[in-house]
Amino acid sequence: MRDVKENLSIIQERINEACERSGRDPEDIQIVAVTKYVSVERAAETLDAGIQNLGENRDEGLLKKWEALGDKPTWHFIGTLQSRKVKSVVDKVNYIHSLDRKSLAKEINKRAKQPVKCFVQVNVSGEESKHGLAPENTVEFIKQLEAYENIEVVGLMTMAPHIDDDEVLRTCFRRLRKLKEEVEGLGLSYAPCHELSMGMSNDYTIAIEEGATFIRIGSALVGE
Ligand SMILES: *Cc1c(COP(=O)(O)O)cnc(C)c1O
Repeated sequence: MRDVKENLSIIQERINEACERSGRDPEDIQIVAVTKYVSVERAAETLDAGIQNLGENRDEGLLKKWEALGDKPTWHFIGTLQSRKVKSVVDKVNYIHSLDRKSLAKEINKRAKQPVKCFVQVNVSGEESKHGLAPENTVEFIKQLEAYENIEVVGLMTMAPHIDDDEVLRTCFRRLRKLKEEVEGLGLSYAPCHELSMGMSNDYTIAIEEGATFIRIGSALVGE
């Protein structure tokens, strides 16, 4: 397996190029290293390589790595979150990328001791296998979160379809950006919604060109 450092320098180069193409500042893009496939040791190596953000998609994985690394990393919960698992993870993570229903918002609000930064997950592509709100229901959903004082909607998140068609991917990311701008425009104090969590190993350069501020990279960075 290649060093995380080596992978990171390749990825950083591609990020810089994507930023150049789209007139963006690489400083505005945060890499979330998705460590769900790899060991605690590899996650520690990732931190040592200078990556601050680690992402896990299951409570077991998060808890195991949290026991070893504590609050040194900034923790991102990126997977489907069952309401009954909220209690065990909510005060260990800094960001939840998968808020997609009212019952989950209610549980996060109830269990968290302080406000949690949440991304509302949107199923832009409409694939049945994917979680997330339908785009047309997203604004209404966010408006309903006002009563939940422990939820801060920092942005929107999506997973693009797993295909090799740049234009389809681009359209998907662009739609999320438009939706983000719509929510941003509402000026809700609990939902500033300035961030876009989109782009994975196979599509992060396109996501950056379309405005991503958090890219979630697993296999290309830490291996699988
Ligand atoms: C696994 C996962 C990723 C990273 O996937 P790679 O293709 O390995 O980069 C990103 N986001 C979510 C929600 C994931 O579950």
